[in-house]
Amino acid sequence: MDLPGLTDLLAAWGEPAYRARQLFGWLHQKNAGDLAEMSDLPKALRRRLAEETDFQPLKLLRRQESAAGDTVKLLLELADGEQIETVLMLYRRKDSRDRATCCVSSQSGCAMGCAFCATGQYRRFRNLTAGEILGQCYWACRAAREKGFAGLSNVVFMGMGEPLYNLNHVAAALAALEHPLGLALSHRRVTVSTCGVVPQIYRLSEWEQPVELAVSLHSADEALRRQLMPGAGRWSLAQLMEACRAYRRRTGRRLTFEYALFKGVNDSPSAAAQLAALLTGEDILVNIIPANPVEGSAFTAPSAKTIENFTAACRRLGIHFQLRESRGQDIDGACGQLRKRNQICGDAFAVDPAFGE
Ligand code: SAH
Ligand code: SF4
Repeated sequence: MDLPGLTDLLAAWGEPAYRARQLFGWLHQKNAGDLAEMSDLPKALRRRLAEETDFQPLKLLRRQESAAGDTVKLLLELADGEQIETVLMLYRRKDSRDRATCCVSSQSGCAMGCAFCATGQYRRFRNLTAGEILGQCYWACRAAREKGFAGLSNVVFMGMGEPLYNLNHVAAALAALEHPLGLALSHRRVTVSTCGVVPQIYRLSEWEQPVELAVSLHSADEALRRQLMPGAGRWSLAQLMEACRAYRRRTGRRLTFEYALFKGVNDSPSAAAQLAALLTGEDILVNIIPANPVEGSAFTAPSAKTIENFTAACRRLGIHFQLRESRGQDIDGACGQLRKRNQICGDAFAVDPAFGE
């Protein structure tokens, strides 16, 4: 519920408008986990809220922390029993502001069926609501604060699901994240990652407050990309690049491409040459990410030597790239993996046996 919605609700209960702002602040800025924390709201109002509303749509099922303590992964349960993942990545920096990045899910599975992705195995899924997207950010924000960070500094839609197929809820969640009475996050600090849903990239480019767009490319070879990413392969690379350039023209934002390196698949110097030929234009950054191993999948990361050869070729070819560390492998870093492990291990958690079929 946005601020006007809360204001209307409380007005119908005979409460003044400033109460709605107080409540909004508790929910979206202080990320209260319990009505009891909302100490400046009258007890009678809190009681009525408890009886008639539900303000935390997500239950924490599991929390894993990397050995270094800089990555926290949360497994959360939605009201209908679906499970989703959220990752918090913490960066302490001497020379600039500390960063606390929350990686959120936008769906509880994905229809796109990428061969290397654990989330793609969950074909029975649904779009998350704005509240469920925000609920993840607020769990992560509380975890960041517990670790001495001021709050979240960045949000990336790189968790489970394809955010461009859930744009309305993503937009509503961003409006709350950017609200001055909420976390007041700038849209410049939000990244939306897509496997390349071309028509939706055009829709996203029309947003008044443009976010950073990251496109999962993984191969500049049309046939190989279609094999790796059958859903995204509906659109040709030419169509994808045209949409990306239109995004760049309309928003002025730099384009980022994700390139996960899979051993023996897309890690050769000739693959780098194809990449260079596709990505012409100066304001393009490529994030090269060694694959995250997924249980039961043949896709693995190349050796350090092969990675070095690939990045050396990129450098020679003038590709502007960053080799990204793969965070949190000790806590099932790749998206969809924690949920998968939870279901394989069973544990005490309810598991729908049809998932993953
Ligand atoms: N659906 C969107 C966003 C979520 S996936 C997208 O595909 O972009 C976030 C990123 O994780 C994508 O770049 C995706 O390709 C990547 N990814 C998925 N599985 C991976 C794996 N096993 N190793 C490395 N990256 C992976
Ligand atoms: Fe979906 Fe992204 Fe995973 Fe592909 S990589 S299956 S688009 S979540």
